[in-house]
Amino acid sequence: MIRSMNPYNGALLRAFEPHSETEIERRLDLAWRGFQCYRKSALEERARKLARAAEILDAEKGRLAALITQEMGKTIGSAEAEVAKCALVCRYYALTGEKALAARRLEVTEAESFVRFDPLGPVLAVMPWNFPFWQVFRFAAPALMVGNTGLLKHASNVPQCALAIEDVLLRAGFPEGVFQTLLVESQAVAAVLNDDRVVAATLTGSEPAGSSVASIAGSRIKKTVLELGGSDPFIVMPSADLAKAVSTAVKARVICSGQSCIAAKRFIVADSIYEEFERAFVEQMRALRVGDPFDRATDLGPLATEKVLTDLENQVERAKAAGARVLTGGRRAEGQGWAYLPTVLADLPRNSAVAKEEFFGPVAMLFRVSSCEEAMELANDTPFGLGSSVWTSDETEIGKFTEGIEAGQVFVNAMVASDPRVPFGGVKRSGYGRELGRDALYEFANIKTVWRAV
Ligand code: NAP
Repeated sequence: MIRSMNPYNGALLRAFEPHSETEIERRLDLAWRGFQCYRKSALEERARKLARAAEILDAEKGRLAALITQEMGKTIGSAEAEVAKCALVCRYYALTGEKALAARRLEVTEAESFVRFDPLGPVLAVMPWNFPFWQVFRFAAPALMVGNTGLLKHASNVPQCALAIEDVLLRAGFPEGVFQTLLVESQAVAAVLNDDRVVAATLTGSEPAGSSVASIAGSRIKKTVLELGGSDPFIVMPSADLAKAVSTAVKARVICSGQSCIAAKRFIVADSIYEEFERAFVEQMRALRVGDPFDRATDLGPLATEKVLTDLENQVERAKAAGARVLTGGRRAEGQGWAYLPTVLADLPRNSAVAKEEFFGPVAMLFRVSSCEEAMELANDTPFGLGSSVWTSDETEIGKFTEGIEAGQVFVNAMVASDPRVPFGGVKRSGYGRELGRDALYEFANIKTVWRAV
């Protein structure tokens, strides 16, 4: 069964029988047949439908946000912001997609030559629960704008969100088959990926899931985009605005109760300001309110599932065993569902296995460094390479960090955030390919060269 549970009180909200093989076959067929028509639609028409989806999302923000909060526990204010951002990404591609996808003339003299951007076909999207609307819309908006059709295999704990997204896109006017939800567990993914009608896949989630999907897709020569984990560094140098760096550091660590791939996870602070940073950071982390995600005074809701909570508890115990000191938190928040207290760890040996892992919850690791070079070395000493945030007003340091950090994005004096207008993605074990911005439009497009002799 696919279960929708309330992480704040453990109540079963709804349970769904996974789609049968016959139903999966029906949906695959619909995705394929739907593609044959949809691929011929005008860019302008697709843009109009995306704009309509944005209107629906804005109009129904309250209801959709409540669904998110109920199913995965993020605070209601952040769920509302998530739905509003989905409207933004639909509008972004509605407004810019036509121009970005228009045929592009090539600079050759002996022929009339241009590239056109054709869709590929049905794309499978395997998605996580942490931003259950945003992750899906940031795939769907550019993919549908190009003319592909989408099949969503959402995380098993957010089936209601998955169905609500399908419903929004249908009501926006996308024809049947253009965007469908497959209510299936992860074991069913291989068969779908192996089906010839599915031409490409994108996965946002953990490394094992990404590796499994990419291996199967690779064996069938199908394109993939992977958005995987991160252990983003947040570097604070002596010339930084310390007060702003501290308050942003707290926000950057506890966004979505710490369950964000681009949450800052390793705080790397220059020696001369370390004590001051640590004192203020711990004070502000301790002051956060953990509680009912529907209460607007709550800063952190529960973690999404019991497993996320127990995995985090085990990780903190392993960090303690490796030598970490707990400066605040370090245990679950009693009586608040599957919640964990905002936690700060110091003195974790840099080479311990746990220091190289991603903490998917509100747990910060503090490290002290004596130079910009040491900060960079530590920042890069991770298998991941998703985001990074550096705090300094020194131009030479800014130059060194933006060039030297091994990550998909470097934010200077700001926290890492995704934005419809700018490309998003990772390097190293954080994955490959780009979502958002103009670049995302070409990930699932056939960049077709036309060469016509004159
Ligand atoms: P997960 O276990 O990998 O789940 C993500 C999705 O993959 C779910 O739909 C899941 O389905 C499916 N899945 C799991 N194992 C699979 C397999 N072997 N084959 C096919 N599908 C499989 O990830 P999670 O723990 O829920 O999410 C947290 C991870 O996602 C973190 O590492 C986080 O950093 C990463 N993340 C990355 C980004 C980014 O943009 N880079 C954004 C958000 C999250 P079931 O639910 O049915 O298991």
